[in-house]
Amino acid sequence: MLHYRIKRLLNFKPNFLLSKPVYKNLKSLKSVFTSKQKYMKQFLILVLSCCCVLVTNAQTKKYPVTKTDAEWRKQLTAEQFTVTRKKGTERAYTGVYWDNHQTGIYKCVCCGQELFNSATKFESGTGWPSFWQPVKKANVEELTDNSYGMQRTEVNCSRCGAHLGHVFDDGPKPTGLRYCMNSASLIFEKK
Ligand SMILES: [Zn+2]
Repeated sequence: MLHYRIKRLLNFKPNFLLSKPVYKNLKSLKSVFTSKQKYMKQFLILVLSCCCVLVTNAQTKKYPVTKTDAEWRKQLTAEQFTVTRKKGTERAYTGVYWDNHQTGIYKCVCCGQELFNSATKFESGTGWPSFWQPVKKANVEELTDNSYGMQRTEVNCSRCGAHLGHVFDDGPKPTGLRYCMNSASLIFEKK
């Protein structure tokens, strides 16, 4: 009796599962599942690629003028290097331009791009050279700076990425802006 039962069990074929409609459904279900997995995989690859591009861009933003720290060190004084390449700030009233009243153009100390005209320089009383507008908006790059627990707008040279200073909205007319710059980031050309 037992022997017969085992034999019957072994001979059992789940035909109902493999009847044509069910089999077809199973097949299509499988293909849906695999295609979903395929899309999921492609989606994940796309997301990861985007993240990689963003991280790479943030770390190595390419400016038209790009040099290594060693090359910048050769070209700049220690203070100019710290301020422009390491986002430093010179002490107030110590720079060479806060009290400069000559007519001319202030250029980037790193790459020579024209940044500010003496006609837009004003007495801010801060001890840093201050301007109410750059020569051209495109010549400066403005980025949000959240360092030191403050939210400020950092100003960089758009050609080489040199840190110049910050811009505030408490400046004089006509723009109401105060570009608070480091003398160490600038080179003055008298006109
Ligand atoms: Zn520059």
